[in-house]
Amino acid sequence: MASFEYRNGSFHAEDVSVSAVADRIDTPFYLYSHAALTDNFRAFDGAFSGMPHLTCFAVKANSNLAVLSLFAKEGGGADIVSGGELFRALRAGVPADRIVFAGVGKKRSEIQAALEAGIRMLNVESREELAAINEVAGRMGKKAPIALRVNPDIDPKTHPYISTGLRKYKFGIAIEEALEHYREARALSNIALVGIHHHIGSQLTEVQPFADALARIVDLVRNLRAEGIDIRQIDVGGGLGIVYKDETPPHPDELAGAVLPLLDGLGCTLVLEPGRALVGNAGILVTRVLYVKRSGGKTFVIVDAAMNDLTRPSLYGAYHAVVPVRERGGKPVKADIVGPICESGDFLAKDREIPPVSSGDLLAVMSAGAYGFTMSSNYNSRPRIPEAMVRDDNFFIVRERETFEDLVRGEQIPELLLA
Ligand SMILES: *Cc1c(COP(=O)(O)O)cnc(C)c1O
Repeated sequence: MASFEYRNGSFHAEDVSVSAVADRIDTPFYLYSHAALTDNFRAFDGAFSGMPHLTCFAVKANSNLAVLSLFAKEGGGADIVSGGELFRALRAGVPADRIVFAGVGKKRSEIQAALEAGIRMLNVESREELAAINEVAGRMGKKAPIALRVNPDIDPKTHPYISTGLRKYKFGIAIEEALEHYREARALSNIALVGIHHHIGSQLTEVQPFADALARIVDLVRNLRAEGIDIRQIDVGGGLGIVYKDETPPHPDELAGAVLPLLDGLGCTLVLEPGRALVGNAGILVTRVLYVKRSGGKTFVIVDAAMNDLTRPSLYGAYHAVVPVRERGGKPVKADIVGPICESGDFLAKDREIPPVSSGDLLAVMSAGAYGFTMSSNYNSRPRIPEAMVRDDNFFIVRERETFEDLVRGEQIPELLLA
């Protein structure tokens, strides 16, 4: 059974009518399906059951505590990129030894927090960062478990903003220089070399780039072994794509089919960092039509959600399907679906064929579970919107709508301005 579908002309999330949720908590809001999240995790994690592995959900895709907790209960870990995400993962109950920490710019305070928590490994992106970790670990009397993030120079054939595995991007250490970096790292007394990491990009719709990148990494692991550097964790990153429109991303089984044979006999644990693939299609953004305006030969459907709530269309030109919550007949119209923000870039969809809608109608913006809420902001002093989760015929608020007071929390008018 699909997690989001029409039943008797009314759009449902599992057994809950979306319009009933809108009546209760007002619009706009994010709505996640517990069943879809669970199914996605099991399909992904299950695909790799043929070898020792750990699925570390990329927290930046959706960092709600309820989502993190669900994956932790399923046996998953967390791939974090900041001290804030470490805090969230621990708060949600992710065991520290299932947390991996990536990112080119970790601060010393973040490194210290990660070592205090006792995370599985830090994925290191430069010589200077390695030195900083060695220093912090030394001060704490610890040995820091690390993997070097290697840039395999593989083109993932995706949007340049979410492509990472080419030499020209800021991520990782060029593969030709990796051996030398490992040799240097071996000499550092507070570093334990436990793994190797790479992540080539996001929203990949073919398996070949994954396999090409991993083949290069496996060669490197063998060379490291030959020098006595015994790497036992291979972290292949995330990046598996989902369907937004008409893409044909591989099923996790297909990814596993391409990846597992390369690791045969290596005696490694595979670490995976899926983000979008676990949450993207498990969430929708629900918004209400405020006005329909015809101007300059165009139709604008003005809704109460905006680019601050869902940034992907403005930022990447990303496509999200938009469907009316009450099934509609009638001749489709071509419209721009836009928000109230004072920017021309504020749109959820452009030149989109949609059924005729009118003021008061609810719309569901599909595939909004990944990089939706987490990229939202308070631009135009718009309180961030609530997140809710459906399970069977119930729904739960998993993050409340922000209030105006939340908007000004921490702000102060200094005395001198009051005089
Ligand atoms: C963003 C990111 C991921 C997750 O990417 P998805 O495309 O959402 O699967 C995994 N690992 C790292 C290092 C990342 O930066």
